[in-house]
Amino acid sequence: MAGKIKEIKAEEYQTEVLNKELAVVDFYSTECPPCEALASKYEALSQIYGDDIHFIKIFRQGSRELAEKLDVTGSPTLLFYKNGELTGDKLSGGVLRSDIMRNLDELVGSVKAAELHKKIKPVETETDVVILGGGPAGLTAGIYLAQAHLKTIIVDPALPGGYVATTHMVSNYPGFIDPQPGFMLSHFMGEQAKANGVEFRAAVEVNNVDLDCKCVKVDGFETIKARKIIVATGSKPRPLGVPGEVEYRGNGISYCATCDAKYFDNKEVIVIGGGNSAIEEALFIAKFASKITIVHQFDHLQANKEAQEKVFNNPKINILFEHEPREFKKNGTMDMSVMVEELKTGKKKELKTNGIFVFVGFIPNIETFGDKLKVDQWGYIETDLEMRTNLDGIYAAGDVVSKRYRQITTAVSDGTIAAIAAGKELE
Ligand SMILES: Cc1cc2nc3c(=O)[nH]c(=O)nc-3n(C[C@H](O)[C@H](O)[C@H](O)COP(=O)(O)OP(=O)(O)OC[C@H]3O[C@@H](n4cnc5c(N)ncnc54)[C@H](O)[C@@H]3O)c2cc1C
Repeated sequence: MAGKIKEIKAEEYQTEVLNKELAVVDFYSTECPPCEALASKYEALSQIYGDDIHFIKIFRQGSRELAEKLDVTGSPTLLFYKNGELTGDKLSGGVLRSDIMRNLDELVGSVKAAELHKKIKPVETETDVVILGGGPAGLTAGIYLAQAHLKTIIVDPALPGGYVATTHMVSNYPGFIDPQPGFMLSHFMGEQAKANGVEFRAAVEVNNVDLDCKCVKVDGFETIKARKIIVATGSKPRPLGVPGEVEYRGNGISYCATCDAKYFDNKEVIVIGGGNSAIEEALFIAKFASKITIVHQFDHLQANKEAQEKVFNNPKINILFEHEPREFKKNGTMDMSVMVEELKTGKKKELKTNGIFVFVGFIPNIETFGDKLKVDQWGYIETDLEMRTNLDGIYAAGDVVSKRYRQITTAVSDGTIAAIAAGKELE
């Protein structure tokens, strides 16, 4: 095992973990993209902290009983130990290097931590292309560039896959007769990129992007210097700016029906919004929930006619027109309420529900880039037909681009064009 890491079996847990003063354990699995994303960080950190903390790896499937006993339900999961006692955070999923370091620092104490931090040397990596964003646009661009033998690094603060990874079923991506689970589609895209030689910096902190020098700093120590950059950072849900929204995000308020609707079997749900996504998602939620109330600011829906008809004909769905949410409250585990205001009268009332879904549009992820990129009135990046932005050597692709239709196929198309155009300039 590389670095200062020891792979152990469950039988050795007592001697190699509990009997040690300080230890960290990585429960990993095979064919697990987040485990792969963690592996290089774990190895690098073992070089820094490995003389003071025992770095252990345990294959989760081979140690099921131990994993269950420790309530390890996902891979990877990192557990931290001091004198045989669990301490610190339990980290799992797309684990950030900074989160691991915070826990390791707590194990060794602040004085030792400061000393060990001096061991971290800045790294400079050169590449032909950096792709910011590992969704369908970025992964497709990566596949084309790597096949053209151009060194390509995809940087993503999350795990690769973008929105597709959290989409329940995708039925409109060509090549598959039956609907495909989104996570599988994105998994295959990521594996294809990797097989072609694309490098990943996944689940990293993107500290700085300098579009002039085409330098991207990640995880505080690595600066990747590229000849071209493709921005494929997608978009995120538009916030409502209502009290309680931030507090209960992911904890009562959801932005993804495909991810969370299944938790509302026979429960009551409020959907905020009245455009295409709100109505389509309300119809999806109706497969699970017993009652859905759509709260919409206008006196009519803005979704396509077919979806509107389905909503009007669905006995589970009611619509509260000309109302806006004013406050979200949580009263128990699955007990939420929304204070809504009737816009005409200003009258407020409290609606009780089990969960809230917000679908009021998206905003492009461009905050990392300063104000040098030319954008449209909604902040989406303007490009020419070859996905070039106004800045030399900087391309954009996918949902972050100013365009009318945002789908996986259109993202994939943009990624293709950006990669071919960038590749030609690098010939
Ligand atoms: C709920 C839902 C369901 C959908 N269902 C379908 C469907 O069935 N069919 C269909 O065709 N389309 C569907 N779409 C639309 C489709 O998912 C998007 O059009 C597509 O994912 C866009 O791809 P992208 O690569 O441009 O962006 P994304 O998929 O959004 O990926 C962007 C990536 O960039 C990363 N990123 C963000 N900021 C930074 C940064 N500063 N630096 C580096 N990386 C960054 C993100 O972490 C993310 O991984 C759906 C969308 C949603 C929200």
